[in-house]
Amino acid sequence: MTTEQTFVIVGASLAGAKAAETLRAEGFDGRLVLIGTEDERPYERPPLSKDYLRGEVGREKVYVHEEGFYAEQSIDLRLGRTAVSLDTSVNELTLDDGERLRYDRLLLTTGAEPRQLQIPGNELDGVLYLRSVKDSDVLRERLDRGGKVVVVGAGWIGAEVAASARQRGLEVTLLDPNEVPLERVLGIEVGAVYRDIHADHGVQMLLGTGVEAFEGHTAVEQVRTSDGRELECDFVVVGIGAQPRTDLATQAGIAVNDGILVDEHLQTSAPGVLAAGDVARAHHPFYGQGIRVEHWSNALNQGPAAARNMLGHADAYDRLPYFFSDQYDTGMEYSGFARTWDRVVFRGDPASREFIAFWLVGDTVRAGMNVNVWEVTDPIQRLIRERVAVEDRRLADPDVPLEELVAVEQGLGR
Ligand SMILES: Cc1cc2nc3c(=O)[nH]c(=O)nc-3n(C[C@H](O)[C@H](O)[C@H](O)COP(=O)(O)OP(=O)(O)OC[C@H]3O[C@@H](n4cnc5c(N)ncnc54)[C@H](O)[C@@H]3O)c2cc1C
Repeated sequence: MTTEQTFVIVGASLAGAKAAETLRAEGFDGRLVLIGTEDERPYERPPLSKDYLRGEVGREKVYVHEEGFYAEQSIDLRLGRTAVSLDTSVNELTLDDGERLRYDRLLLTTGAEPRQLQIPGNELDGVLYLRSVKDSDVLRERLDRGGKVVVVGAGWIGAEVAASARQRGLEVTLLDPNEVPLERVLGIEVGAVYRDIHADHGVQMLLGTGVEAFEGHTAVEQVRTSDGRELECDFVVVGIGAQPRTDLATQAGIAVNDGILVDEHLQTSAPGVLAAGDVARAHHPFYGQGIRVEHWSNALNQGPAAARNMLGHADAYDRLPYFFSDQYDTGMEYSGFARTWDRVVFRGDPASREFIAFWLVGDTVRAGMNVNVWEVTDPIQRLIRERVAVEDRRLADPDVPLEELVAVEQGLGR
């Protein structure tokens, strides 16, 4: 295919880089521009709170592609460049150096950024946030120095940073206003497993407690909590969630609501403009609603799906949400999407830290999480996707293979 067309991707991270790769693999030979604010070529973020942060792997392990890939593929990679405005009426994008780029198709993969705590002292030296490889380098240097760290927020990033800091021998306090870590996604019963894992590794857990202020002269020296404690520290890491980077889309008049709104083909409200990855709230055919998924596998797969649709396909993106986390020697994978549920059924003893948890509504599984149990993602996803009717007793019984549950109980499914 020979074309004079120009395709532009804004956001040179996982979703954007995989989209560019797919466009070339699918035969697009027009001009392809990939623009990224960061100075680094596209890289993966999961290691930044895990082995890369602990210094166990080097920079070369985090990149999405080899250094020469973009030149070889004639991908015009513009690093250190930010798209500052977008005029969809004339298909034109303006960069921070004043350059104007006309596009035939545009993909927005601008991702997400850490939510900031709006409290006194947030600007003090030593109050750290984690999103980029540079942030991880700064944090790694703090871990090298040792001492005491207070981690604010026991979501995925806070919990992983707490684990890495303990593994590096620091004194760690993990603080969260909820009753257990990861409560919003996992609920109380499963979040309690993570509370116990951190406590067993010597993390001081301060749950049910918020933070009022960071105090110190130029650098943070202590954290004042909402229950009146003063926690001394050498530095603080704040992990209270991320928000989608939607400024460019909003300014261009593209529909946004906690993420850029896209249909199942990842098409925004502006013709020829698509969005994918952390920034996109995509209509999900299986769930019948828009969902925004801030996870690696979503960026990995949605970027290529958007690329194919830029080329004129009409592929609906309907993968089930999936993510993973590693803390100490506990690895997990989570499939599905459940914000409310009737009950949680465990297969295996959670205290053994080798188990599967299922979140159910009625007799169907909405989400499943395998902890230190592997190669079960496929049957877990089939239970969810095929809405198989299950009996709690059989679901909980490790002697009943999950594959058998899918096959046998499928007859009862709807
Ligand atoms: C520390 C950390 C650990 C994680 N661990 C896990 C994990 O264990 N498991 C898991 O499933 N997920 C994990 N994630 C989430 C996963 O990394 C994200 O879902 C993924 O990075 C999203 O990719 P993305 O390409 O959509 O966006 P991002 O990675 O956010 O990239 C967006 C890029 O766009 C650039 N950009 C934004 N606006 C502009 C503009 N106007 N012009 C030019 N460039 C722009 C940004 O600078 C950025 O480089 C982790 C995330 C972090 C931060």
